[in-house]
Order: sequence, then C-alpha cells, then structure tokens
Amino acid sequence: MGTSPFYRAEHEAWRATVRRWVAAEIEPHVDAWERERIFPRELYRKAAEIGLLQVGFPEEYGGIPGDIFMQTVSTEELCRPAAGGVYASLMSHAIGAPPIVAHGSDELKARVLPAILAGEKISALAITEPSGGSDVARLQTTARLAGDHYVVNGSKTFITSGMRADYYTVAVRTGAPGLGGISLLVIERESPGFTRTQMEKMGWHSSDTATLHFDDVRVPVANRIGAENAGFAGIMHNFNAERMGLATTAIATSAIALEEAIDYARVRETFGKPLIANQVIRHKIVEMTRQINAARAYRDQLAWRIAAGESPIADVCMLKVTATTTLEFCAREAAQIFGGASYALGTKVERIYREVRVLAIGGGSEEIMRDLAARQLGL
Ligand SMILES: Cc1cc2nc3c(=O)[nH]c(=O)nc-3n(C[C@H](O)[C@H](O)[C@H](O)COP(=O)(O)OP(=O)(O)OC[C@H]3O[C@@H](n4cnc5c(N)ncnc54)[C@H](O)[C@@H]3O)c2cc1C
Repeated sequence: MGTSPFYRAEHEAWRATVRRWVAAEIEPHVDAWERERIFPRELYRKAAEIGLLQVGFPEEYGGIPGDIFMQTVSTEELCRPAAGGVYASLMSHAIGAPPIVAHGSDELKARVLPAILAGEKISALAITEPSGGSDVARLQTTARLAGDHYVVNGSKTFITSGMRADYYTVAVRTGAPGLGGISLLVIERESPGFTRTQMEKMGWHSSDTATLHFDDVRVPVANRIGAENAGFAGIMHNFNAERMGLATTAIATSAIALEEAIDYARVRETFGKPLIANQVIRHKIVEMTRQINAARAYRDQLAWRIAAGESPIADVCMLKVTATTTLEFCAREAAQIFGGASYALGTKVERIYREVRVLAIGGGSEEIMRDLAARQLGL
C-alpha cells in the first residue's frame, strides 16, 4: 500500500494495531457472542485502551486526531470477524456522539463525551420509529417544553445499543409538522418513564437492538443539541458519515466473503479436482474481486473529497448502493461456492449472508439512496 495516495505509513501502522486487537479480543469469542446474542460490556473499555473509540473526536474531550482514512481502516479491521453486530454496537457512538460534538453546548459536551470516548458510557442514536424510518421528516415522538424541561412521549425502534446505552441522541418533534419542527435531545437511561424492549433479529445477533418507549419523560433543556427545531440538518449531516461507514462495512464484509470463498475453492474437491479448477468458479471469484475493487476505489475517492471539505451527498448515496449490491452479490456467490456448508450455522459465509439486508436497508435503504441521489442530481 506504500504507493497509495490515500493510505500512508501511519494508516498502515494503525491497521496493524487494530488487526492485532481484533484477533486477540474479538475473533476467539465472536461465535459464542453471536450464539449468546450479546458481547461483554468491558469490550468498550478495552477498545478505548487502544484508541479505537476516540479516533476522529476532539482531543479536549479525550479524542485522538485521525482523518477519514483512519476511520476507514478501523471499520475494515473491525469487519474481519464477519460479525457486523459487534462492530455496530461497539461503535454506536460513531453515530450517536457526532451531533453532540457538532452542535452540543460546551457544558453538554464536557458532561457526556469524555466518558463515552473512554468506553465507560455507551452512546446510541435514535431516529427510526415504529411508524417508519425512511421518512424522517414525519417522525412522531413529541417533546413539549415545560419550563426548563421537555416532556417526551413516543417510541423509537431498531435502536443499536438500545438496551444498554447510557446516552441516547433522540430525534423529537418540538415544532410544526415537517423537517422544520425537529430537535435532537440527549436522553439519559435512568430518566423516569423511559423503558426499553429487546428485539430479536435475522442477523447482527451480538448487537444489542431495542425498541425505546418514552412515557412523559422529563429531559432538561440543557440536554438539547443545538437550536430548537434545527435538528434535521444535524440528522442529515450525520447520515453522510454513517452512510460512508455502512458502505465501508459492506465493502469490507464483501472482501471477507471473497477471502473465504477463495480458501474454500482451493481445498474443496469435486469430480476429482479442486473447485477452483473450474472456470465457472474462477469467474465468480473474478467478478467478486472486480466489484469489490470498483466499490473500494469509489469509496476512497469520495473519502478524499470529503477530507478536502466537499459534501458529495449524491455520490455518498450512490456509493452506499454500490457497496450493498456488491455485498449482496458476494454473499450469494460465496454461499454458492460453499454449497451446503454455507447453510450450517456458525461459518463466516453463513453470517455474512444474514447481514446483507441490514446494510441494504439500515441508515437509508437502496430505494431511498437512489431517490435522494436523483434529487441531488436535479432529476
Ligand atoms: C439491525 C438494525 C439496526 C438499526 N439501527 C438503527 C439505529 O441505531 N438508529 C436508528 O435510528 N435506526 C436504526 N435502524 C433503522 C433503519 O435505519 C431503518 O430500518 C431504515 O431507515 C428503513 O426504515 P424502515 O425500516 O422504517 O422502512 P420504511 O421507511 O417503512 O420503508 C420500507 C421499505 O419501503 C421502501 N420505501 C420507503 N419509501 C419509499 C419510496 N418513497 N419509494 C420507494 N421505496 C420506498 C424502503 O426502501 C424500504 O425498503 C436499524 C435497522 C436495523 C435493521
């Protein structure tokens, strides 16, 4: 990678650090965590010990300087165990905390960020509601101002780290219908009237996912992130970074499916020769490689444009679609190469097959991504 215009020696050194940590702290346990449908809370603190939680966050709150390529490297390495649920929950502050950093008051930032970045407290983002996630502007959870508090009523669903988070960045309606009436509040787990229900899912088993219920929950005005009714812009800004992260997750997971498929095709014999000796199998592998290379190149180029200060929204949307359709293809082809073995629980390929939908739908589905790209392109 020495000649890459994007990844320098410090990125590769960081890659080696994270790879060693993932091999020691996640790989040996991940099958059990997926079976038990949770990972130990102490993993947050261990991740903070090597700086994983802090990269890219402001130093004054315990963050560590790091560019978008540093974050890409973290994501790629955390995807190596092919258990996106561990990554999604361990790094849920990557979607929960940035609105606080970008728009929170100094007091709020000083109060919540250091413990989140130290792995002592967990941060989650709560936008999606039972009535729908794609049409954010129509969200229904209300926050009524009453003196120095808001009174929050409503529900959120599919919230990553939803059961055990300490700080929830929650989108609420404080004003008129539509996108101009939305605010963001930090709601703390111990608030009276705030309850949670665990969700069962197709995949991401070790990720903690919950439905949240707010019944007259009193939230101090000091916990509002930014100005009242100005939350939508913060949500949209956050979505760009989340979608870059989800695209990287899909590409990195595709690369693991490819690695697994090649290894298996070399050793599995049918009709007296290894699978890889068949042209049709080699073509599957080439096609997976081709799509992954194209998606990676698109991602790196976009990351470079974002680092240079651009906000290429249409391209971020199209990248996410490129990445998740690549994953869908690679998951299918890897499973075909594994044959019946891909249907046995506990292999990486089986897990990857179950992780396709969450990436193709979560954080903005393929349909919504195409629609937003079309509007951004003036179509
Ligand atoms: C495991 C998991 C973790 C998640 N974590 C979080 C989290 O931490 N925080 C959070 O806030 N949310 C989270 N989500 C929610 C996720 O972002 C939403 O599921 C997603 O935004 C889609 O919303 P929806 O499921 O309500 O689908 P809907 O909005 O009901 O849409 C249903 C389907 O219709 C399609 N559709 C909708 N409108 C149109 C249209 N106009 N034209 C064509 N097709 C359309 C959509 O593409 C989708 O396929 C998570 C989801 C999952 C599965």
